[in-house]
Amino acid sequence: MVKVNENYLKLKAGYLFPEIAKRVRLHSQKINPLDLIKLGIGDVTEPLPKICIEAMSNALKEMSTSEGFKGYGPEQGYKWLREKIAKNDFSARGCEIDADEIFISDGSKCDTSNILDILGNDNQIAVTDPVYPVYVDSNVMTGRTGNALDKGGYEGLTYLPISEENDFKPEIPSTKLDIIYLCFPNNPTGATISKDEIKKWVNYANDNNSLIFFDAAYEAFIKDVNIPHSIYEIEGAKNCAIEFRSFSKNAGFTGVRCAYTVIPKSLKGICSYGDEIDLWSLWNRRQSTKFNGVSYIVQRGAEAVYSQEGKIEVQNLVDFYMNNAEIMRNRLINAGFKVYGGVNAPYVWLKVPDKMSSWDFFDYLLEKSNVVGTPGSGFGLAGEGYFRLSAFNSLENVTSAMERIINI
Ligand SMILES: *Cc1c(COP(=O)(O)O)cnc(C)c1O
Repeated sequence: MVKVNENYLKLKAGYLFPEIAKRVRLHSQKINPLDLIKLGIGDVTEPLPKICIEAMSNALKEMSTSEGFKGYGPEQGYKWLREKIAKNDFSARGCEIDADEIFISDGSKCDTSNILDILGNDNQIAVTDPVYPVYVDSNVMTGRTGNALDKGGYEGLTYLPISEENDFKPEIPSTKLDIIYLCFPNNPTGATISKDEIKKWVNYANDNNSLIFFDAAYEAFIKDVNIPHSIYEIEGAKNCAIEFRSFSKNAGFTGVRCAYTVIPKSLKGICSYGDEIDLWSLWNRRQSTKFNGVSYIVQRGAEAVYSQEGKIEVQNLVDFYMNNAEIMRNRLINAGFKVYGGVNAPYVWLKVPDKMSSWDFFDYLLEKSNVVGTPGSGFGLAGEGYFRLSAFNSLENVTSAMERIINI
């Protein structure tokens, strides 16, 4: 018989979201399912920007003519999109990123996992705890960890705890790490990082020849002008960081699928015989071999995000969700909850009251208010005692969920 990749057997069987679904399903049998309000999964709810729809329908019409038909596009993405990204997301913020250094893809979930393809198996890898589970599981699947530990987490991975004590910002390690995943604004905690703080990470990485994976999927939600949108706003970052961006949360592309990854040409890795190799070439080779690009139609939709109208529509979407987040924050604070996040990120991260566990609070909220959230412990050991509520919902649902929670 074929042999399976036994690394998959180490995975703590996709525990979080299936378990939530199971508990919600059981509860739904006792109530009118229409009474449920789901503030659990981080998926957008509002329709696509009109200008993106228009761009995509025009692109589709183009494809229906022999002059406009497009077959395979460049694996790295169309130049016109890469140039718009370089100009609007980087040049405009004082970062010098070349269009060539931008690789268009069908999602940051895939990119943050696939990037491991071009890196050795014997790197010391660090994630924050709590963390976006994709980073951990993709390392497990590729054999970069040992077994799951009884107390939670995996052998061989380094966990950088984030909690109230450090304002949900990981401390700079005293040991040498090779790869560090950082996500700011953060999912699940909603925390952000200042220029000075991220500068310390860039310095650490350059001093130790480490590589930072910077996931900026939520950069559009930053309101505070002092918070960096890109790690490349920090001097030296082009020598130590790969940045992941996505159109999923800002333009509502979770179902359309478009994202990009920035690999500066100055980034280097080392091979066992001591030669330095540039990571750009490896990723370019990887994408050319294993990926055939994002659809022309979708890339035209993403391009429209950078039009004048697109920028306004995206800002309106972001403002809509951030108004939800503000309502959630204010109401929960008034009701006596200890609340984090929700200011520069669409997630509110609350401290579970009365020393309940995260799952106890999940059940309590579901039973008493028919509101679904996400237990903090599902994102890692250090998430125990916290609970995530997402601002991705209608104003009506958010308002009524808050009323119900407050009136329990
Ligand atoms: C939603 C999200 C993404 C975006 O993923 P896509 O695959 O581009 O939809 C990336 N990172 C984090 C932490 C997220 O929450």
